[in-house]
Amino acid sequence: MTEYAVEEKEWVLIKYAHAIVRPLGGVGVLFGLTVLAGYFGSVEILYRPMANGPATHPLTAMCIVLIALGLQKFNHEKVDKWLHRLPAFLVLILTSVVIIDVSIHSQIHHVLTPFQGQVLADLQAGKSNSMGMNSAFMFFCISISLALYSFQKFVLSQFVAFFAIAIPDISIIGYAYKLGVFHGQMSVVTAASGFMLATASLGMTAHIGGLKALLSPYLGGKIARLQVLAGYLVPTLLGVLLLKSQNSSEGSSLGIFVVLICWFIILMTIVSAIFQEKVDRLRRKGEQRLKEKTMSDPLTGLSNRRKFHEFGQEEINRVIRNKSQFWLLILDIDHFKKINDAAGHDIGDRVIIKLGATLKESVRAVDLVSRIGGEEFTIILVDSSKQGAALTAERIQMNIKHMKVDGWTDGHGPITASIGCAINNGSCALEETFKLADEALYKAKENGRNRVVFSDTDVAHQTL
Ligand code: GH3
Ligand code: MG
Ligand code: MG
Repeated sequence: MTEYAVEEKEWVLIKYAHAIVRPLGGVGVLFGLTVLAGYFGSVEILYRPMANGPATHPLTAMCIVLIALGLQKFNHEKVDKWLHRLPAFLVLILTSVVIIDVSIHSQIHHVLTPFQGQVLADLQAGKSNSMGMNSAFMFFCISISLALYSFQKFVLSQFVAFFAIAIPDISIIGYAYKLGVFHGQMSVVTAASGFMLATASLGMTAHIGGLKALLSPYLGGKIARLQVLAGYLVPTLLGVLLLKSQNSSEGSSLGIFVVLICWFIILMTIVSAIFQEKVDRLRRKGEQRLKEKTMSDPLTGLSNRRKFHEFGQEEINRVIRNKSQFWLLILDIDHFKKINDAAGHDIGDRVIIKLGATLKESVRAVDLVSRIGGEEFTIILVDSSKQGAALTAERIQMNIKHMKVDGWTDGHGPITASIGCAINNGSCALEETFKLADEALYKAKENGRNRVVFSDTDVAHQTL
């Protein structure tokens, strides 16, 4: 019964998170290509933004470009397996080789490195230029997240991306706290690219799991977002203050403490947001069910008088905005008391139920059929001309005539009804239109029943 839907808030933040994936990937491509162009044209500042600071290694730049290209084809509705899988697979190989090399002090990755000559020249000149464990592990995680996404393992993909984003965060804190061990050989460009790409791969699964809960437009999401922000900023800023007042040798342990606390708080917040969102969803469903109950007629399942008024009012507002019109039909079964008296209330109820279903079948899905009293119904025909209203009323009369109700029509012949019609073009209240339609109905009864009367023309016409 969608017509009773409780207004669902729009999950705009999820839309934004999805929308940001490709632009972030685009910037990633730009960053990676700029670094490679720096090597190609021997423009050092492009791959080593801070003189004598860490450089972005050519392999790192390749990983950035590959991942960023893989993100370019992101489409939330339709996962393009191979366009995610292929770059993820290549980055997985490159980073695995580097991780092995760093672990066992081998140099296999030299073979895979473009511009290796330039890297060696830098090293000989005493400048740092390597893909460290941090960078390798970060892109390893992002590529796994991308690969998991391509296999539609969204929750796992999100978990790994969440983990991956912590690595550039450590480097960024390292730069902020001036802790060399934290950023190690990771250049600002690598840290920023990693952060962007990990954020983008998180964005891909914004519609699911913890991230969905975090981005919820309801209270749980709002609280969780504030908590995540505070949980990240407060320990980080306190760390800066503490570091300033202490001697710098204690910086590393304080830095590690800060990073761990930040991520612990964020994790806790997300877990609680997931549960809050679950509870809130149940509440929303309950509210919706309650609203459906208060707006529907228990006997026929149609809308009741309350819904009729609400819909009618909304329709008047729409008619005024769009300069259109709607027709209101009031229908009353002819000599219904006879049915009750001769066959009993049960059969009478059966007639009402069947007639309600017949009315619903006789109109468009956009029109509203309501049972507003015993055997009285209203029909709002939205955006309808007089001709359209007349045709619908005629169709209704015809369908009622052919209606079969066990226990009545077989022995007593067809059921008939009278209909009064009035137009509303936004110039009067619903009550006024209702009164006009009711007067027309009264005339239909007076003139012999089983007919349709239009309030504006007062022309009654026999339809059967
Ligand atoms: P008319 O052609 O003038 O409309 O004659 P009528 O006999 O249909 O008169 P009226 O519309 O006043 O009849 C309403 C009757 O509907 C009175 C009441 O007993 C009966 N009624 C009201 N609600 C229900 C219901 O839920 N079930 C049944 N079986 N009968 C109902
Ligand atoms: Mg009546
Ligand atoms: Mg009646």
